Amino acid sequence: MNSQNHYADEVLDRVAQFRRDDAWVTAQYAAKQTMFIPVWRSRSLIEQGAAPRGVMMSIAETRALMETATTTVLLGVRNEIAHFAIDISPMEAHEVNELRADGEFVDLRSVGAVLDRTEASILAYAKGIMHWHSRHLFCGVCGSPTESQDAGHLRKCLNQNCSAGHFPRTDPAVIMLVQKDDRALLGRKAEWMPGMYSTLAGFVEPGESLEQAVAREVMEESGVEITNIRYHSSQPWPFPSSLMLGFFADAVTEKLIPWDDELEDLQWFTRQDLADGGAGIAQRPRSDSIARRLIDEWIRQG
Ligand SMILES: [Zn+2]
Repeated sequence: MNSQNHYADEVLDRVAQFRRDDAWVTAQYAAKQTMFIPVWRSRSLIEQGAAPRGVMMSIAETRALMETATTTVLLGVRNEIAHFAIDISPMEAHEVNELRADGEFVDLRSVGAVLDRTEASILAYAKGIMHWHSRHLFCGVCGSPTESQDAGHLRKCLNQNCSAGHFPRTDPAVIMLVQKDDRALLGRKAEWMPGMYSTLAGFVEPGESLEQAVAREVMEESGVEITNIRYHSSQPWPFPSSLMLGFFADAVTEKLIPWDDELEDLQWFTRQDLADGGAGIAQRPRSDSIARRLIDEWIRQG
């Protein structure tokens, strides 16, 4: 299913059944058609040009990098071609920038919105799982080093008295458009570009349902009581490791009394304001975000 959210196109068969099949993984790793997605210090290799493109490298191009690679992860299979992510972070900046004449390692965030959706989804997956590896080099139970197993989908503690297995994590975050009659509640953080307002959002806490997190975050950031919380869609957001869970909700109260100072400003905007840039809102959120999709759909519902 295509969820329509950027970075969420279903483009790879993740072939979980083959991750522990060493012979299969090794054969794919050496196959002529296999593609490698390089990740360097959390950055993605992009060919800059009129239309930026995410770079996927062949085995011939990648072979020289394999000695310095820290981690290789089997992402999945697309059109019978295996795709691996390869982390080459130990390489120096001048070395990696010579890999492709017009290629440069950049933050996916800076180009994701204009990339082809398939490429953006694969690069986001590669970036997200490499971020997890880079933060789990040591066991969270005993502090010993860990090693990558199951084609990069498990890190195992090397201390034989511990042997804890650590699996890739994502951090669930709720993001919600709260409406009351013909108005939506949006806020802005001080560091955002001038005039940009977005939906409220926050991380889910342990022991909390998604609906509880939505209500709590709205209360903390605005003091508004809500009801009728409806799930909309989800989006992987590997900046660095979130899974955004989008909701609509109806406000019961409308007086704005924030409990915290996370937001610099908070306002109720009409559909007209959002469509035309009225009431001081000059920018909607970036086009690759679920926030933007929630807002645009809400405008169309009017
Ligand atoms: Zn351990």
